[in-house]
Amino acid sequence: MTTMDATNDLASMIDLVNPGTLYRSAIEEVAESIGPVIAESEQYRKARVFERLLIPDRVIRFRVEWVNDEGGVEVNTGWRVEHTNVLGPYKGGLRFHPSVTEDTLQFLAYEQCFKNALTGQPIGGGKGGSDFDPKGKSDNEVMRFCQSFMRELYRHIGPSVDVPAGDIGVGGREIGFLYGQYMKITKQRDGVLTGKPVGLGGLLGRTEATGYGCVTFAEAMMKHRGDKIAGSRVAISGAGNVALYAAELALQKEAKVVSVSDSGGSLVCENGFNGDQIKELIRFKEVERGRLKDWSGDGCVFHSEDKPWKHAEYDVALPCATQHEIEESDAKVIADRGCLYVAEGANMPCTHGARSVFHDRGVTFGPGKAANAGGVATSCFEMSQNAGHETWTKDRTLEKLHGVMLDIHEQCVEHAPKENGIVNYGAGADRAGFVKLADAIVAMGV
Ligand code: NDP
Repeated sequence: MTTMDATNDLASMIDLVNPGTLYRSAIEEVAESIGPVIAESEQYRKARVFERLLIPDRVIRFRVEWVNDEGGVEVNTGWRVEHTNVLGPYKGGLRFHPSVTEDTLQFLAYEQCFKNALTGQPIGGGKGGSDFDPKGKSDNEVMRFCQSFMRELYRHIGPSVDVPAGDIGVGGREIGFLYGQYMKITKQRDGVLTGKPVGLGGLLGRTEATGYGCVTFAEAMMKHRGDKIAGSRVAISGAGNVALYAAELALQKEAKVVSVSDSGGSLVCENGFNGDQIKELIRFKEVERGRLKDWSGDGCVFHSEDKPWKHAEYDVALPCATQHEIEESDAKVIADRGCLYVAEGANMPCTHGARSVFHDRGVTFGPGKAANAGGVATSCFEMSQNAGHETWTKDRTLEKLHGVMLDIHEQCVEHAPKENGIVNYGAGADRAGFVKLADAIVAMGV
């Protein structure tokens, strides 16, 4: 079969599952990458592996009712998408954000399957969350919401069944409340959630892992192209867990970090934030839950309601906020700024159009399913720590994380087509992840 025929076949299969906009863009991206793999493998075609990966094993949807501080009843929707457990227990974060829909979670769960496969660890793919917005809620309101959410979720999860973690709007505080309720209902302290506070069995180094992993991946891409991160200029979007720890490691590697952002706007520091400023930003965001517009630092300028990309010069862009934050027009600005490397800290922050611009302009692009896989890889270490009744040191975690990220980089390079000497990491990651999933599906039978 020719690659063209295989790619056309895959495209026609996508319509059969009638995906939402985000889910469609995720599966179209993969279909485009894996055409040659499908064309070469009669076994994969016969076992219909691509189609079998399109429909999740199941989608659980439930009502979450809770009482606000004024005594009023609030109602939200909760979901858990269990996409595939062919490589291990369902594994993926929970997102609490008003924009969450079933489409958002289906796309995230699908991406998660490939990412988890790339880590080389025994974990399947899933994702969950709610349209609940923790922003502006009191700790007690967040706790009551989390308890109600877990009142339903507990019956679907288990350390060898489904192991959720954090994501946007779900950090240590939320995971602590969720796990507390799980322990009360089930009498189990089995580590069923990852990203837990350390006192509840969490892993030292998990908080840093996604951001650190993203910088490690970006550095590997740079080395592969004959560049180095020390002395480079790095623009970051987002000011959450991924963004701020990416900033921290970039700085440790002697890069200059010139921006961070939140949904209110961008904070740009043309000469680069210093270490104390990054530390203070982490405290401001994690402890005070502050907004960037209210933060001031020497040499920093806040641009209200604006993305960071046009406000500085930089060599590396790390989009670490949310999906589709970089559209085609942003990608043109990024390339015009002289940026040569983009590594996605967030999940699918770049649209298809943006990726095409990077491709055409010679910008090396690291997809989220590879570049941000450090978070889930480290979650898997947390599962090992809990199952083995051990306490890992932070150094042990970070050293293993470093190894996993370099291994993912190598897998991408090995499977990627090379165009004009530039590695197509997007296709490499899709192919490397797909082959692992497809082989397991074939082995499992029907
Ligand atoms: P956080 O909630 O800690 O931070 C998210 C950041 O992005 C905040 O600064 C937030 O600003 C900003 N943001 C969110 N939505 C928008 C928007 N629509 N427009 C502009 N800014 C926005 O989340 P994380 O850092 O954990 O996650 C960020 C991304 O990384 C997500 O795509 C997530 O799926 C992905 N990821 C996270 C992992 C992890 O371990 N945490 C692992 C792998 C991927 P504001 O506060 O104003 O909303």
